[in-house]
Amino acid sequence: MGRGLSISFDLDGTLTSNRFVDSVWLYGLPGLVAERQKIDFPAAQTMCIQAYSGVGDGSLLWYRLPYWLEYFDLRDMDSKRLVSRYASHIELYDDVIPVLKGLKDEGFDLILFSNAARDFLDLEVSESGLEPFFSRIISVSDDWGMVKAEAAAYAKLRNTVSGNIVHIGDHKRFDYEVPMSAGITAYHICRDKQPAANGCLHTLHQFAEIVRLL
Ligand SMILES: [Mg+2]
Repeated sequence: MGRGLSISFDLDGTLTSNRFVDSVWLYGLPGLVAERQKIDFPAAQTMCIQAYSGVGDGSLLWYRLPYWLEYFDLRDMDSKRLVSRYASHIELYDDVIPVLKGLKDEGFDLILFSNAARDFLDLEVSESGLEPFFSRIISVSDDWGMVKAEAAAYAKLRNTVSGNIVHIGDHKRFDYEVPMSAGITAYHICRDKQPAANGCLHTLHQFAEIVRLL
């Protein structure tokens, strides 16, 4: 049963759609910036997107909403409160619960391994009922002060489990190339891309079939 294998899952874009995080970053925060700076929404949105990409998703700052609230002179806004406004936008892909339940029942050790900050991660987990499936829920950015851009994050993950580990996620570099470079078998899932990139899995059902044969 499970043969002592741990399976590590990315969260956003892998288990949940990006609708929630996009709502916060592409609508919620730009909306506040527009109000505060008295500019129109499209201009604020462009300003935010340019600021985010100046930092890049390989940086810890990218994930830290309190940093961005300060950056845009919105210190009076509480990050948790802003994030919770969009809780109704959290949506799981249809295959998530059946696959997680099946793998857990078969004895696999399941881990949630996300770059998302705790304010995002905790809300997504509680709203979508994911908590019972995972033995560990790790916010790589908040809990470890690292980002999955670093092979060291995967080396640390490997050291926290006793047996072998397999990872899956939707970010080609962070969830596939980086873990592979750290000696962890990894799979890339492409949820919405048409046509899917070469070697991409389309569903978690496909992934579960592969894992059962490992
Ligand atoms: Mg992702």
